[in-house]
Amino acid sequence: MSEDRTAEGNGANHDTRRGFATRAVHGQPMPVPAEHPVSTPIYESSTFAFTSADEYSQALQAPGHGYSYSRYSNPTTAALEATVADLEGGTKALATGSGMGAISSTLLALLKEGDHLVLQRSLYGGTYSLVTDLAPRFGVESSFVNPADLDEVRATMGPRTKALYVETIANPTMEVADIPALAEIAHEAGVPLVVDNTIASPYLCRPLQMGADVAIHSATKYLGGHSDVIAGVAVFADPELHNGAWRAMIDLGPSIDPFAAWLVLRGVKTLPVRMRQHSQTAGEVARFLEQHPKVEKVFWPGLPSNPTYDVARRVLDGFGGMLSFDIIGGREAGRRFIEGTRVAALAASLGGVETLVSHPASTTHRQLSPEALHEAGIGEGLIRVSIGLEDAEDIIADFEQALERA
Ligand SMILES: *Cc1c(COP(=O)(O)O)cnc(C)c1O
Repeated sequence: MSEDRTAEGNGANHDTRRGFATRAVHGQPMPVPAEHPVSTPIYESSTFAFTSADEYSQALQAPGHGYSYSRYSNPTTAALEATVADLEGGTKALATGSGMGAISSTLLALLKEGDHLVLQRSLYGGTYSLVTDLAPRFGVESSFVNPADLDEVRATMGPRTKALYVETIANPTMEVADIPALAEIAHEAGVPLVVDNTIASPYLCRPLQMGADVAIHSATKYLGGHSDVIAGVAVFADPELHNGAWRAMIDLGPSIDPFAAWLVLRGVKTLPVRMRQHSQTAGEVARFLEQHPKVEKVFWPGLPSNPTYDVARRVLDGFGGMLSFDIIGGREAGRRFIEGTRVAALAASLGGVETLVSHPASTTHRQLSPEALHEAGIGEGLIRVSIGLEDAEDIIADFEQALERA
C-alpha cells in the first residue's frame, strides 16, 4: 500500500487545542489515496474551498476551470458529463436534475422573445407543455410538423425559427426520425437540430455523428436504467452552445445532485448489455403480439410494418425496448389489460429493468375525447410497453393472460 496523502486546504484540523465544536465541524482530512478508485467517488459537497481568490473567481466563469459550488459543477457530475459526451461523440455535455431540466436549459440558451421553434407533432408530454404553455408567455412561438414529411418540415422553417426539435424514436407510434435529412434541413435554415435521444439511448443512436447539434436524454430512463433516479443530460457539438446552456442551468437551477449523477454513471456501465437484451426481448414480444387475434396493430421500430422501418435500419443499431399496440375493444379493453398484468407493472416512465405498461386513454389522457385522442395520434385501445429484463417467456405469458381478460 502506498502512503496516504491528505487533501490540502479543506479545513484540516489536527489542533486539539481547538474547541469540540470546531473539531466536530471541520473533522479530520479525508485521505487522498494514490491508488485510483475503480468506482467514481461521490463528491456530496455543495461548496469547495479555495486557497486563492483568483482560482475561485475563475471557477465561476466557465465549466472545467475548477469547482466552486455544485449548482455550477461538481466532480462526480463532471465525470457523468464526460462519459456521456464521449459515448455520444459530442464535445461537451451538461448533466441536469431531470430530462426536462436538460431540455429547458438547452431551449433557453437558443431562444429569446420573438423567436420561433419547429418541433415534431408527437412530442413527449413535458416538452409539449413547455413549448405550448410556458414558452408563449415569454414570446416564443412553436409550429408542429410530421418529421417524416421533409417538405412540410422545410416549408415550416421561417426567418424567426431558431431550432428544429425532434425525438429519435417518437412515442407512441415508434416512428424513427431521419436525423441526417433533418440535420440538412436545419442547417440550410442556419439553425441547430436538437434531438431528444432518450428512447434510443446512445447505444442505439448517436445523433451528433449524423449531423445533429444537440442530443438530449432523460437519464431517468435507459442511461440510469433502474427506475431509481431522475436525471438528464444534454450533449453538444458546439462548446459555445454548451456554455449557453450551462449559464441557463445555473440561473434556472435544475442542477443534478452528485449522488443522482453517480447512480446514472453506474447505470451507464451496463447500458450496452441492457439495450441488447431490451431490443431482443421487445422483438420477441412484438412478434407475439402481431399474431394475436385481440391485437389490431403493433408499433415497434424493428417491424417491417412500421412506416419508418427503412429509416430505423439506417439510423439505429438495434430497435430498442419500447413498443405499443392497439388492443381490440377500445378504452374498456385497454383498461382491463393494464389492470390484468402480473409481471408488468402499471406505471409511468420507461427504460428500467422492470416491464411497465400504460394505457393513455384511461390514465394520462383520460380527459381527452376520442376525437382529441385521435388527433394526438393515440388510439383508445393503445397500450404502451417498456420492455424490462425479465425472461421473454414470462412477459409473453403475462400478456397472453391479460389479453384473455381484456
Ligand atoms: C421522460 C422523458 C423526458 C423527461 O425526462 P424527466 O427525466 O422525466 O424530466 C423527456 N423526453 C422523453 C422522450 C422522455 O421519455
